[in-house]
Amino acid sequence: MSTLSPCLSNDVKDREEYRKAIYETVEAILSSFSDESAFSGIDPYKLRKKISSYSILEDKGIGFDSTLSLIKSVVMPNLLRTWSTDYMPHLHSPALIESIAAELVIATFNDSMDSWDQSPAATELEVSVIKELCKLFGYDENSDGVFTSGGSQSNLSAITAHRDMFCAKKLGWDIKKKGLPDCYRKLRLYTSELSHFSMEKSAHLLGLGYNAVVKLPVNAECKIDIAKFKSILKKDISNGFIPFLAVATIGTTDFGSIDDVSEMRKLCDEYGMYLHADAAYGSGLIVSKRYSSRLGDLSLCDSITVDFHKMFLLPISCSAILVKNRESLDCFSLHADYLNREEDEEDGYINLVGKSIQTTRRFDALKVFISFKARGIEGFSSIIDNAVSNAEYFYSKINADTTFKVALKPEISSVVFKVNGSDDLNKRIRRVLLTEGIVIGQTVKAGETMLKFTLLNPCLDCAKIDSLIAKIKEKAIALA
Ligand SMILES: *Cc1c(COP(=O)(O)O)cnc(C)c1O
Repeated sequence: MSTLSPCLSNDVKDREEYRKAIYETVEAILSSFSDESAFSGIDPYKLRKKISSYSILEDKGIGFDSTLSLIKSVVMPNLLRTWSTDYMPHLHSPALIESIAAELVIATFNDSMDSWDQSPAATELEVSVIKELCKLFGYDENSDGVFTSGGSQSNLSAITAHRDMFCAKKLGWDIKKKGLPDCYRKLRLYTSELSHFSMEKSAHLLGLGYNAVVKLPVNAECKIDIAKFKSILKKDISNGFIPFLAVATIGTTDFGSIDDVSEMRKLCDEYGMYLHADAAYGSGLIVSKRYSSRLGDLSLCDSITVDFHKMFLLPISCSAILVKNRESLDCFSLHADYLNREEDEEDGYINLVGKSIQTTRRFDALKVFISFKARGIEGFSSIIDNAVSNAEYFYSKINADTTFKVALKPEISSVVFKVNGSDDLNKRIRRVLLTEGIVIGQTVKAGETMLKFTLLNPCLDCAKIDSLIAKIKEKAIALA
């Protein structure tokens, strides 16, 4: 067994080992599947037994080749193949090929975004990509942003920034130095009852607690009911609560419904609140020629969460938080003598650590750069338009079929529906399909178990949708 080179260098042996490792990994990936299914269908107990029999605590390593062949035979065949058109339960997509190549660059150089001396070109590229993203969403030069690990962290960053800014401006209180103000139990954040759970998680982490999150009722289209929002706000204020933020969900996780940001902006202005757009899901529509107007004017919001690992089909993780007023991100700045000296920044060395919750951070901006550059807005638009029109097609088919009941006309790309019959029947249909390598989603609407398709896969077409519908009908009859 040969000894492993520790890392890439200019040395011939190291370069050869790098080339071989990457090449053999690519070959192993390509030979790990031979059909179009999404999953092997293996039972969880069997898979657990198989995988837990390999220990990582052995004294002697087995070398790269043997380790790769083990991964190839045990792990890879049972990974989820996100590119399969049989996979559609979650806001979870396959990765565009060119962005997988970007991952190789990111991992090989392993630059870190905290300071300029750890990521010179990467820092400049992130700054430039953020500037253009701000422009894309209609923000002016006073805006800013930063890449994050995902929508949850983008939302946490936005809520932190607005909480701190609100307390500084309205209460004259510096949270960064002094912690929460005495009235902290009165602070309130308003969002849809269908909003993502990162609202509650953030409220907990920020010391405000779940009680600070007021879940607003939605109308028949699953959007925040603005009249009810207004009356709840008035009542809360008269009861001494302090509203500081409203969050519009631009594409609810289950239904893809889009809250009305212009109506919410009016209320926020009237009551002195900030407005955040959680567009983790819906942000993809911004590049769509046909559907971007469905988003509303997101530039009315004080901040926007954009997930690139959902509709944009970039590898996990890739997300950004954009802010209308660049000062909002100052809440994350802090100087360390060893990392981001103030004198460096005066000389033009940008240290992005000052905008982020993270310290060491990946060069995820490269994935956005490579895919936008390679495909253009047009290329992305056709991917997004295809996803939305597939959802419309799927909706029209099952809406016309008495076997099914549909929850809602889709605005983006998810369709929630059920087979007419019991909750149990619908749950069993999902499980049986899973063992056949077809993975569909399950959720609850108004107490009823529903099935869900989240159509993000660019390879999905009408013929495939027809065959999936036929398959579900077949199971519905067999299991009834
Ligand atoms: C997916 C999602 C999130 C969370 O994003 P992650 O990238 O999974 O952390 C937040 N909000 C909405 C509306 C989402 O759909």
